[in-house]
Amino acid sequence: TTPTEADLIGKNEVLPIYKPREKYSHKGHFGHALVIGGSYGKIGAVTLASRGVLTIGAGKVTAYMPKCGYIPLQSSFPEAMVISDVNDEKITKIDFNITPDAVAFGVGAGTDAKTISAFEAFLKTNTKPLVIDADGINILAKKKALLKSLPENTVLTPHPKELEGLIGKWTDDFDKLKKTKALSKKYKCIVVIKGANTITVYGDKLYVNATGNPSLATAGTGDVLTGMITGLIAQGYDALAATIFGVYLHGKSADLLVEELGYQSFIASHVIEGIPLAYLDLF
Ligand code: AMP
Ligand code: MG
Repeated sequence: TTPTEADLIGKNEVLPIYKPREKYSHKGHFGHALVIGGSYGKIGAVTLASRGVLTIGAGKVTAYMPKCGYIPLQSSFPEAMVISDVNDEKITKIDFNITPDAVAFGVGAGTDAKTISAFEAFLKTNTKPLVIDADGINILAKKKALLKSLPENTVLTPHPKELEGLIGKWTDDFDKLKKTKALSKKYKCIVVIKGANTITVYGDKLYVNATGNPSLATAGTGDVLTGMITGLIAQGYDALAATIFGVYLHGKSADLLVEELGYQSFIASHVIEGIPLAYLDLF
């Protein structure tokens, strides 16, 4: 389909995006994602994002986090590899010896001055596709000059408070969209306005997601989304397709599971558990 000014994204729109797996494929075909984030007490955010990466189908995931996260992550999610920062409690230096196909930065990272400097240094040399969420966005809001260092088509996934840091206060929804389009055009980035009707903004184009429900209004669901989008990019989906498809599958997972779990009891781990159902529901 040719995108118009505002496309509603449902199953018919994401089906042409989907790439089936070949019989003779191996994990090397599905990419390696790097998730950088976490701080003392917020290691779960990186764990959830890393689980999102592999469950959406990426071949490998490495989590980069402070040392205190090493044992909890390796124990709770053995499928992930871990590289630790030199610091125990926060990220102070982003230094890794792998070649990722996509990088996520920010979940649970905090906004310590040392973490900001580490991110700044990382941006100077990074050439890989990037997804920035949570404290990554709060850092961009604090240091707007960093927006210029983002690779083209970087995906930003702010919730409303984080978006306000980036674009300032808005008067109404039209104003919010106007300001977000301006941000997207100025820095050539993809902005996901998360909420009840998640809208992906790419220049003047809007993609309004049709899936999702209030069960998602619970801690950690955004971290899972970050992992899902990053995992799709690592697999070779271009950033915009990965964003639209990831947002769709995230909401669909919740729509399929809420029937048995109910709105109140659904938690972020359930989004991950529903990803297989969301994929299977495509056909
Ligand atoms: P975060 O605030 O970063 O954890 O992200 C929350 C996630 O849940 C985003 O993907 C939102 O789009 C989604 N979400 C939150 N509230 C709702 C809602 N009322 N209806 C649908 N999706 C929601
Ligand atoms: Mg979040």
